[in-house]
Amino acid sequence: MKEIIKDISIYASYALGAYTLMLITGYALQDFCSRRISNKRELEMEVKKEAEIQGVKNPIIIDFAERNSPRYKKMRGPRASISAYNRDTRKLVPFKDAETSEGIFPINILHVREGSECNTGMVKHEIYHLKHHLPGPRNKILNGLKYFFYEEPSAILYALRHMRN
Ligand SMILES: [Zn+2]
Repeated sequence: MKEIIKDISIYASYALGAYTLMLITGYALQDFCSRRISNKRELEMEVKKEAEIQGVKNPIIIDFAERNSPRYKKMRGPRASISAYNRDTRKLVPFKDAETSEGIFPINILHVREGSECNTGMVKHEIYHLKHHLPGPRNKILNGLKYFFYEEPSAILYALRHMRN
């Protein structure tokens, strides 16, 4: 029995390694097949176009960190998030507030740094997350598993399949 458990755990670690490698290859392909976006203006146009294609209705704010800005080093990889905007205080508040209060509207945010990660494939990928995956489950473990095994591969596949749009 111990042998079987050992074999299964070895097999599982190989499978997980192969899967992770497949995701990394997917990211590389997504970047390789994309067109680089060099400034915020160009990024805004690309985001507007892609939001229309995918049917994202809530407004998307772009959090773009230029290479020489203090935010650049603090920001990790491109990421989409959702929040809410309070019309009275003119401040961003947690997304859950938008479900309960009037005058608070859901809002999407795309965080991205200047450089090679800012490209057309990334825009398609992150907007796909906004349209289909956010907000995720409240449970952190469930959220992490769903992200790794379902959301990431589906966003990468979407970006690769729609690269010509
Ligand atoms: Zn992703």
